[in-house]
Amino acid sequence: MRAVVIGAGIVGLTTGIALRRAGIDVVVYEHAPEIRAAGAGLGIWANALAVFDDLGIGEQVRAIGRPSEMYFHDPAGRLLETPEFGVEDHRYLLVHRAKLNDLLADAVGRENIRLDTGFREYEEHENHVTARLSDGGDDKADLLIGADGAYSAVRAQLVPGAPAQEHPGHHAWRAVIPTAGTAVSGNRLILGTGGCRGGYVRTHDGNVYWLVNQFQSPPLTGTRKQQALDRAHRLEEGGDGVLAELIAATPEELILHNQVMLVPPLPHWVSARVALAGDAAHAMSPHITAGATLGIEDAALLGRLLGPDADVPAALAAYEADRIPRYARVAELSAAVEHSPTPQEFARHYAAFSHWMVSEHSGQGQA
Ligand SMILES: Cc1cc2nc3c(=O)[nH]c(=O)nc-3n(C[C@H](O)[C@H](O)[C@H](O)COP(=O)(O)OP(=O)(O)OC[C@H]3O[C@@H](n4cnc5c(N)ncnc54)[C@H](O)[C@@H]3O)c2cc1C
Repeated sequence: MRAVVIGAGIVGLTTGIALRRAGIDVVVYEHAPEIRAAGAGLGIWANALAVFDDLGIGEQVRAIGRPSEMYFHDPAGRLLETPEFGVEDHRYLLVHRAKLNDLLADAVGRENIRLDTGFREYEEHENHVTARLSDGGDDKADLLIGADGAYSAVRAQLVPGAPAQEHPGHHAWRAVIPTAGTAVSGNRLILGTGGCRGGYVRTHDGNVYWLVNQFQSPPLTGTRKQQALDRAHRLEEGGDGVLAELIAATPEELILHNQVMLVPPLPHWVSARVALAGDAAHAMSPHITAGATLGIEDAALLGRLLGPDADVPAALAAYEADRIPRYARVAELSAAVEHSPTPQEFARHYAAFSHWMVSEHSGQGQA
């Protein structure tokens, strides 16, 4: 059994590891010239850590991460309590994206990853699928997994008419910087008015990850730093100003800005021999900080359902039957967070989402 995985992001690499552990030969195609990770810090929740444990790399992932807790404060610095949820519903591991991708690439085996080779299209036959590649080559396999992100070319062919869409007015700014010169005594996530959220979290290696988000932002003006600073000032009105200080100390070129993109709910995720995973299937709003975590579940489920003697169409159908309802529930819980009328409600709905995600893993019984 041989699988072609398109995309060497978190989900493609984790899929590569999961399929190889299931006894399948895997090649991962990545159009970039190197393993890279756009972004800064990444929160990995318990359900994804359980996958990494199953794949035998949990300890390595924990060794590059810092255990953290997702508690929110209001602009006045008051903790927004969620007494109905336990501490385990707030716990996650903060990792540096680039370090995680490097670790995953090593676990896939660099010899199984073809860099600088983009996917163009596939041709599906009854007993195999052929990927056509940017270098003019073809690759024939038993199945093809599209883990090629929000702008997925695999999705464009498998589910035509479902391009990534802007989440109107939803923007995110973030960076990882050394803490030198700024007194960062602890982690702080603030929910403010005007759809703004932001804060900072210390990383494993003594740096700090700061982030600022806004729903329904007015049109952007000024530099990325000014955009993030304006929002931080509002979030910290009357507070200690640490977030603004961190942003002010960040070189403009280190600040990553995203217009948030979403993939609309898809009518199907698979054909007989092709499946989508990760953002290719479900790029979602980052206000629930769980897109990668949920994509790691996709990879694990593919690994559990597939094996050297698997009936590929049946396994992919079972994958889709598990994933589509799970993501419908994610969408409901995520919308409840997004449309919360107050910061207190946002905190409560957020904890409800993470409680559901970490306590109700899907697909566990489907192997
Ligand atoms: C601001 C922000 C904060 C977030 N924070 C969190 C968080 O804290 N926790 C969390 O769980 N999630 C978070 N997310 C979501 C998370 O970033 C994504 O869900 C995750 O990175 C998706 O991984 P992926 O591997 O599916 O896609 P990607 O990371 O997009 O990887 C896709 C890969 O495919 C490659 N590719 C694309 N097209 C082709 C092609 N034609 N041929 C070959 N290769 C191709 C790309 O180069 C890339 O390497 C956040 C998102 C944002 C925007």
